[in-house]
Amino acid sequence: MTERHDGLLGEVKERLKAARRPVVLSGAGISAESGVPTFRGSDGLWRNMRAEELATPGAFKRDPRLVWEFYDWRRGILEGIRPNQAHSSLAELERRCEDLTIITQNVDGLHRLAGSRNVLELHGNIWLVRCTECEKVTENREVPIEILPHCECGAVLRPHIVWFGESLPADVFDNAVRASESADLMMVIGTSGVVQPAASLATLAKRSGAYLVEINPESTPLSLEMDAVICASAGEAVPELL
Ligand code: NAD
Ligand code: ZN
Repeated sequence: MTERHDGLLGEVKERLKAARRPVVLSGAGISAESGVPTFRGSDGLWRNMRAEELATPGAFKRDPRLVWEFYDWRRGILEGIRPNQAHSSLAELERRCEDLTIITQNVDGLHRLAGSRNVLELHGNIWLVRCTECEKVTENREVPIEILPHCECGAVLRPHIVWFGESLPADVFDNAVRASESADLMMVIGTSGVVQPAASLATLAKRSGAYLVEINPESTPLSLEMDAVICASAGEAVPELL
C-alpha cells in the first residue's frame, strides 16, 4: 500500500471500529493469494474454454461428463489450499463483532475453513453435490471425483453451484439483501463487480446508507460508488485494516 493511502486507511479503520452491522461482499480475488485462479485472470481457462462456456445448465445437458471433468480440475486445484490472511482476519473480526455477515460469490469454502460462521455462499459450494432429480444436497470431497457421480436414487448428480443463467437460491439471496439493506459499512473485496445480482448488493447497501469500501488492486465498475477505494491486494489490506 502506498503512502497516499495513509489518511484514507485511518478513516476506514475508524469507520470499521464504529460499524455495528458490517457486511463483506467477497469475490474470487480474496482467494487469489491462496493460489486459487480468478475467472477473469488468464489462468482461469481450462482446455481453452472459459467458465461461461462450461458452468451453464446447457453445457451440462449437452455433455455432463465434460462439465464434471472441469469441476474435477477445479477441485484438484482447491484441494489442500488454505485460507489466507484476508480470510483469517475476517474470521477474527466476526469474533469481535457478532453481527458481521460475509456474502461471498466464491464456491471454494475458504471463509468457513478460516473460521467464519455467518457466511452466505451466493453461488454454492464446490464440495457439495445436488441430485438432478430428487434435489438432495450432500457433501462430496472426492478428488478425483467419479466423472459421472450418481445419487442413491439413481439420477445423475451435479455440482451444487449456481451456473450462469440460473437464479440464486432464494433464501440465501433474501438473507444477503436483508444484510445489505441494514449494513452500516460494506467492504467489497476482490470482485470484478460484473456478475449480477451479486454486484447489485453493493448498490443496495449504498442506497440504504452504508459506507462502502473497495479492496482491489484494479478499479472496477463498482469503484465509482465507493466512499473509499483501497488499491491493494486483499492479503495486504484486510489484515492492515482490521
Ligand atoms: P472475477 O474473477 O471476475 O474478479 C476477480 C477480481 O479480484 C478482479 O477485480 C481482480 O482485480 C481482483 N483481484 C485479483 N487479485 C486480487 C487480490 N489479491 N486481492 C484483491 N482483489 C484481487 O471474480 P468475481 O467477481 O468473484 O466473479 C467471478 C465468478 O466466478 C463468481 O461468480 C464466482 O462464483 C466464480 N469464481 C469463484 C472462485 C472461487 O471460489 N475462489 C474462483 C473463480 C471464480
Ligand atoms: Zn436423487
